[in-house]
Amino acid sequence: MSKLFYQGRGRKPVLDQARGVYMWDKNGRRYLDGSSGAMVCNIGHSNDHVLAAMQRQMEKSTFGYRLHFETEASENMAEKLAEKMPEGLDRVFFVSGGSEAVESAMKLARQYALAVGQGERWKIISRTPSYHGCTLGALATTGYTTLTAPFEPMMRVMPKVPAPRAYLDGLDPDAAATGRHYADMLARRIEEEGPENVLAFIVEPIGGASTGALVSPAGYLERVREICDQYGILLILDEVMTGAGRTGAFLGVDHWGVRPDIVVMSKGIGSGYAPLGAMVADRRLVEPVLDAGGFAHGFTYAGNPLACAAGLAVLEEIDRQDLCTNAAAMGEKLLARLNGLMQRHEIIGDVRGKGLLTAFEFMSDRSTKAPLPKQLNAHQRFVDIAYERGLIVYSRRTRDGVEGDHILVCPPLILNEGHIDEIIEGLDESLVQFAQEIAP
Ligand code: PLP
Repeated sequence: MSKLFYQGRGRKPVLDQARGVYMWDKNGRRYLDGSSGAMVCNIGHSNDHVLAAMQRQMEKSTFGYRLHFETEASENMAEKLAEKMPEGLDRVFFVSGGSEAVESAMKLARQYALAVGQGERWKIISRTPSYHGCTLGALATTGYTTLTAPFEPMMRVMPKVPAPRAYLDGLDPDAAATGRHYADMLARRIEEEGPENVLAFIVEPIGGASTGALVSPAGYLERVREICDQYGILLILDEVMTGAGRTGAFLGVDHWGVRPDIVVMSKGIGSGYAPLGAMVADRRLVEPVLDAGGFAHGFTYAGNPLACAAGLAVLEEIDRQDLCTNAAAMGEKLLARLNGLMQRHEIIGDVRGKGLLTAFEFMSDRSTKAPLPKQLNAHQRFVDIAYERGLIVYSRRTRDGVEGDHILVCPPLILNEGHIDEIIEGLDESLVQFAQEIAP
């Protein structure tokens, strides 16, 4: 019996090889990676350019502690990443994952407030449902009760506002009034919490696993920015899942042209080649903190040269292969095909997403938007059926507010139309089997 454990004890096949969008287990079975792992492997598996860059870096040095050395790899990666950020966001702090990046943003925001004489500000408002990470700070902003409840006595849970699930509330996501309706909930929450205590709002521009590819309604993020400005609150964009081209632009927020104060990234910038995350902040925030004595925060592996060499090569591949454009083009086709599945399969109640961050949600009745019964554990059962057919997809049951099972379809950005055919065929067959299983 394996000595490993994660969330559970379940034993999966042993991974042998992976290349492009495919993975093979030790028994030689092939899988199409329709979720890029956990929305990580944006450029696909075993990319030659990245492997060569890592090999070169390994032959030079694999570790240099940040108090002793800078490395060319981390300097160059920081330059390249900053080039892709909105104007002014050019101070880069490396970490090893998404939760660490969120923690770093929370602490930078707090230290900035202290440095500019606003020490009463500490509350970071976030949304329900949302996922911002599993460490206690990031978890305090996470809106997902099953994950947060056991640890509540150990952390200071942050205030929440509802995520803009227009499709469930019967609102038109393309109407400007819808975006304003949800954004104004933030303004009301700030007033309730006491504007002088509120430090920041953290938000995913397009929801990831928690909401299942929920695209911000028209005008939402623009209005959120206005509200943050009005109250002097920082806007933190969690681009851990949406960043690095996933949604058809380098950052998810680029679709709306809204300027954040801090961006947190991970997943796609390392693309699975190395554990890498980054917080990129406006220099206007960082400079006062450094002037006031420095950022009281940091991880041993920050700026690890191997991780940064991998990250730089990943960003180069995103540019060289124009993967943002491909994600946008293939995403449109994939979304259209998912809508086609919805026409054929009554059990699909909603299809949504942007670029290659797409999802569909199961409903037992489209007109009432009623979810499938919880005891079916539909999202997990569906993922298992697809897996048995060699298609990997990702799923969650939203636990906060309205219940619902959604399946995320988020393949690597190197996707082509042949891969889309394969994905749709695998989903179609899996949907037929699933519908038969749950038929009364
Ligand atoms: N933020 C978002 C939006 C995420 O999707 C995740 C992980 O899924 C995290 C933060 C946490 O990242 P990690 O698991 O690398 O700590």
